[in-house]
Amino acid sequence: MNITVFLGAPGSGKGTQAKKLSSSGKFIHLSTGDILRNAIKEGTPLGKEAKVFMDKGELVPDSTMIGLIEATLKNLSGLEHIILDGFPRTVPQAEALDAKETTKVKKAIFFQIPDSVLVDRLTGRRLCRNCSQPYHIKHMPPKKAGHCDLCSGEIYQRSDDQEDVVVRRLEVFNSQNQGLVDYYSQKNKLQNLIAHGSPEDIQKSLIQALN
Ligand code: AMP
Repeated sequence: MNITVFLGAPGSGKGTQAKKLSSSGKFIHLSTGDILRNAIKEGTPLGKEAKVFMDKGELVPDSTMIGLIEATLKNLSGLEHIILDGFPRTVPQAEALDAKETTKVKKAIFFQIPDSVLVDRLTGRRLCRNCSQPYHIKHMPPKKAGHCDLCSGEIYQRSDDQEDVVVRRLEVFNSQNQGLVDYYSQKNKLQNLIAHGSPEDIQKSLIQALN
């Protein structure tokens, strides 16, 4: 299994860029945040457990997340190039991936972006409830208010994109991220990516980093 992990703050564009890459058909994009939001929508036991943490901007416990990612990766054939977006969030999660030969991480790409940009990006972010296409109320509104340009689905704001929860999510990110950066840097797997600029330029740098 060829696994690349995307590191970076909430709002650094990991999900947007991973979605673009997966549309080429060469990569499989797995977002643990998306998996958890689906579980919440379906009202599963995982969704019920995760919601309590997500609504407060806290991390879901490592044991739950490691079990979830192991179960998800087990369903794949092993030949795919996988992009993990939102996992690992902690060093024990990174160690769990590397503990098995088949899920060892090949590369970690760190999306670097100034903190000042993130709050505006996150609090202004809106998503399509149907296809998850991202929008921004100021910088990239949908053509028809409240409806997705691609599938006409309903546009909504994630409950954890409210300002008080955003502030906590960024605190949590900052408390965990240096440990992950050090972990992958010591293994010579870390690649930094300037993630502030046009999405097209970032995609080009990302493709170079992945090759
Ligand atoms: P995201 O969509 O990646 O911003 O994730 C949204 C929320 O899901 C996070 O704020 C966490 O509460 C939870 N979450 C997603 N991935 C993980 C993870 N790997 N470990 C712990 N919690 C996670």
